Amino acid sequence: MNILVLNCGSSSAKFAVIDATTGDERVSGIAQRLNSGEASLDWKLDGHKHTRALPGAGHDRCLRAAVEVLGELGLLAGLAGVGHRVVHGGSRFSASIRITPEVVSEVEACIPLGPLHNPPNLLGISIAHELFPALPQVAVFDTAFHQTMPPRAYTYAVPHAWLEEHEVRRYGFHGTSHRFVAEAAVAALGLDPTDHALVTAHLGNGASATAVRDGRSVDTTMGLTPLEGLVMGTRSGSVDPAIIGHMARALDVAPTQILDALNKQSGLLGVSGLSNDLRTLEEAAGRGHARARLAIDVFSYVLAKAIAALVVPLGRLDAVVFTGGIGENSSLVRAQVLTQLAFLGLDLDAEANARCVRGVSGRITTSTRPQAVVVPTNEELLIARDTAALIS
Ligand code: AMP
Repeated sequence: MNILVLNCGSSSAKFAVIDATTGDERVSGIAQRLNSGEASLDWKLDGHKHTRALPGAGHDRCLRAAVEVLGELGLLAGLAGVGHRVVHGGSRFSASIRITPEVVSEVEACIPLGPLHNPPNLLGISIAHELFPALPQVAVFDTAFHQTMPPRAYTYAVPHAWLEEHEVRRYGFHGTSHRFVAEAAVAALGLDPTDHALVTAHLGNGASATAVRDGRSVDTTMGLTPLEGLVMGTRSGSVDPAIIGHMARALDVAPTQILDALNKQSGLLGVSGLSNDLRTLEEAAGRGHARARLAIDVFSYVLAKAIAALVVPLGRLDAVVFTGGIGENSSLVRAQVLTQLAFLGLDLDAEANARCVRGVSGRITTSTRPQAVVVPTNEELLIARDTAALIS
């Protein structure tokens, strides 16, 4: 069953056609630098890259161009449905759902919680509805997997009226990825689907870790927004909130400007002063760049501490699962993290760790209980599967 998967962000829109039954990706692509002179549509077919310049194009023109490409490839006729990534579902959605006008209204009601992400997600839904009025559409939320967290995990110790009147609580993100790799790890490791304890670490430009007990998220590092928790490419992760007032006064700027710097100029980029890209930092650190080295050390240390903390709600640890661009490729970060977690019984297998890069999955510890594994994520496939399940 062929499903069109759409992930509409503010300046880019990703698309893929995936056979939800076999998992085969028929085509995937991205419209980038939307609403600029350099807007373009790039897609990959059978390993070959193609590009089409669309200067000045926004979401609407780019998605129409993507649909044209699908038509040229003969992929439109067989489409059974459209699955959309939606970032913030608040407390309203605890699972993927078929899109109706009521669902659209509820996603709109979550805009104050996800002001950067939900509007482009909604735009994608409305354009897809116009382009494919006859096709069923499904929303798959980044937050839904974490709705199983208990109150003690999602409640911030702030005035309770903030929660009751303004929905201020931990929501967590990357839920599709955490769910995908947790399920894949349970299957690959032969764990009991009704009795397991995992920490999944999704480490990319955005990064979060989740405690998964018996298939359910019981705690996670991201919070009300994706700023909290681990060190990320340009995001600080958790810091003392008093920094905002302190730096606003010191620099004589509005607090929102400091918040913007915590989102866009911090993390690996902020510490290194060089790049948000771990590959660049690993190369620079190898040449002796001290702050690139420090950025990698802070990233690994904060991650190791977070993984250890997530063992608390689990009560025991069966496996740590690494995924995302960094989790799947950086044997350096994984080695640093596991070395700091040796007290939990995680014994690094250096050879296996070096081998598990570029899509190779497997165990990277000599220990088996607990163990650490690399599992490549595939959020698009999970969106396609959820969509197929809800429309059939
Ligand atoms: P993602 O957001 O999941 O695409 O991950 C992007 C991050 O993964 C960037 O920081 C990349 O530098 C990092 N990454 C990708 N490949 C490698 C690699 N071979 N070694 C180290 N980091 C990598």
